[in-house]
Amino acid sequence: MTDGGDHKTDHGTHHGTHHDAHHDVIVVGAGVAGSLVARQLGDRGWRVLVLEAGLGDDDGPDGAPAVDAERFRSARAKVPSAAIAGNPLVPSPDVLDLGGRTGGGYRAAGHLVQDGPLPYASGYLRVNGGTGTAWTGLAPRMHPEDFRTADFGYGRDWPIGYEELEPYYRAAEHELGVAADPVEQRELVGLPLADGYAFAHRPLPASQVDRLLAERLDGRKITDPSYPRDVELRVVGTPQARNSAATEEHGPVCEGSASCIPVCPTGAKYTPRRTQRRWGPSVTLLTRAVAGRLLADPSGRITGVEYRRYDDPARPASVTRHTARGSLVVLAAHAIENARLLLSSGLANSSDQVGRNLMDHPVLLTWGLLPQRTGPYRGPGSTSGLEGFRFGPARAARAPFRVEIGNWGWTWAVGPPGHEVAALLRGGLFGAELRQAVGDRVGRQFALQFEMEQSADPANRVTLDPRRRDPLGDPRPVLTYDLSDHVKRGIAAAKAVSDEIFALLGAEDHSTYAAGPSQPGWFEYGGRPYAYRGAGHGAGTHIMGERPADSVVDSWQRAWDHPNLYVVGCGSMPSLGTSNPTLTMAAITLRSAERMHRELSGARVTLRAAAPGPTTPEETDTP
Ligand SMILES: Cc1cc2nc3c(=O)[nH]c(=O)nc-3n(C[C@H](O)[C@H](O)[C@H](O)COP(=O)(O)OP(=O)(O)OC[C@H]3O[C@@H](n4cnc5c(N)ncnc54)[C@H](O)[C@@H]3O)c2cc1C
Ligand code: SF4
Repeated sequence: MTDGGDHKTDHGTHHGTHHDAHHDVIVVGAGVAGSLVARQLGDRGWRVLVLEAGLGDDDGPDGAPAVDAERFRSARAKVPSAAIAGNPLVPSPDVLDLGGRTGGGYRAAGHLVQDGPLPYASGYLRVNGGTGTAWTGLAPRMHPEDFRTADFGYGRDWPIGYEELEPYYRAAEHELGVAADPVEQRELVGLPLADGYAFAHRPLPASQVDRLLAERLDGRKITDPSYPRDVELRVVGTPQARNSAATEEHGPVCEGSASCIPVCPTGAKYTPRRTQRRWGPSVTLLTRAVAGRLLADPSGRITGVEYRRYDDPARPASVTRHTARGSLVVLAAHAIENARLLLSSGLANSSDQVGRNLMDHPVLLTWGLLPQRTGPYRGPGSTSGLEGFRFGPARAARAPFRVEIGNWGWTWAVGPPGHEVAALLRGGLFGAELRQAVGDRVGRQFALQFEMEQSADPANRVTLDPRRRDPLGDPRPVLTYDLSDHVKRGIAAAKAVSDEIFALLGAEDHSTYAAGPSQPGWFEYGGRPYAYRGAGHGAGTHIMGERPADSVVDSWQRAWDHPNLYVVGCGSMPSLGTSNPTLTMAAITLRSAERMHRELSGARVTLRAAAPGPTTPEETDTP
């Protein structure tokens, strides 16, 4: 059956009118990447159908909103999914699916099957808006050096460089409403920003802990544990996709309410819904539409996308099957889900690289108490960081890393402040004594987050196991994941750096790494224990390259094997570099959208030349 006009009755998530069985473009996934592509192509008049697996705003069972404040309030762990209405038919992988075993090792439940030596420790969200609904919103650019790690003897180089991406970085910063200080980014991070360049917003104010650390650390030097050089410490503001002032274009100002994960109550943080609100009338969003397989003709052209629609996520019987037809197909379903769709379809894989090179930024957390109050649990998750360990020849010896200064106390490391209260209660404290102890302990908390660059390794991969299926009957993703020696050396170096920083601050170090339920990413290296967390930065699974023999997509994110298929998102990134990846992903996706537009226009011109007379979009085709 083909999709028909039944979607017009969709629950409030309908943009444009969806009459036709053939679309110029079908986009699978309405996260950051899919929403940007739909906007770019919709603005140019192309008829875009967006298939989104998750629920929309008022798509929840019984009309309950998909974002549910009560669910968040009562959730034991304030993880990214904590405010999102559950969806039994379209589950999202959750960090709570993982647990460590006493004595070492881990167990995994939920959507992702895991069989690697170490766990892939990140989740993502399958809801309209995708993972960008609950992301932290840090939006730094990659450094020019991050595009060519092979110069340092590891990883893969990009087929494009910083210079080529620069105009798209600017466009992405504008779209996401990035707040940052251009002078700091130029002088302290080393980004070649044009003179006079202004970010969309002035920088957000530094937090109290940022200011404390800057007072005590700025200008101090510590020796790089892996390389004979001194690194000067400098607390630098982190670019943020959140508003430092209210504007008509980007919305209200950040009020510091500190619930960015899972949701920003004011709308100050960028989410893909903001882009969706600007979609033109030729974009149609179909929520509760789960793509399962792509169809291709013998020449390799993608001819359609098979998808299932459900009315009620609690009622599998409500599922119906459809096929959407379009001239161009864009997969934007997240690195892991894009790979899953390609593997399920048996497409785009002549290189045998689909699903391989799975990367994340493994994070070492260190946490402690400062001698003075830090004012935690206020503002975005992190407003500043230390940049000195990202660059230079040391990255040949160990994974380079960016250090985020955490504003939310020990939340990520140990749990929300209730944990501390429970520990003090167990210690026998009550009344005024308890209140004073809570104020003292919680009020002095701080944490550092060391985010390691992990390079592309074909052995880290997504495969499918047809014996293990999800509620819709599709094979679940099986993840095989491990950390290389390069990354483990980076983690060990990060702990040594942290020790020096704690000493300079006069801080009590409370970081402990022990095999057990709360640390599934526990491992030993050089005779010492460590544990890592996932950053949520899944990447690499449809890797970009210069040759079809060893990559899945070209520099435009177009599948080498299928000229009318684009596979977009962090899955295309050949290296993750030393910055949070979404801004770079947005930049490459905006660049790809231009190419898609050119292809669609070129096809229309070709058709016009071949058959004079009025040409409708239905007649367009890719060259
Ligand atoms: C807790 C957390 C914090 C983060 N913080 C940051 C940060 O501070 N800075 C940063 O740069 N990055 C951050 N990230 C990463 C960032 O969220 C991702 O890079 C980004 O959201 C990826 O966007 P995407 O559009 O590629 O995928 P997603 O946002 O995952 O969107 C994919 C969409 O596809 C839909 N979909 C999936 N399967 C199907 C299917 N079969 N059919 C139809 N639709 C489908 C999903 O429902 C979803 O809407 C964070 C991630 C997490 C988990
Ligand atoms: S701190 Fe609060 S207002 Fe600011 S982005 Fe985060 S949740 Fe939104």
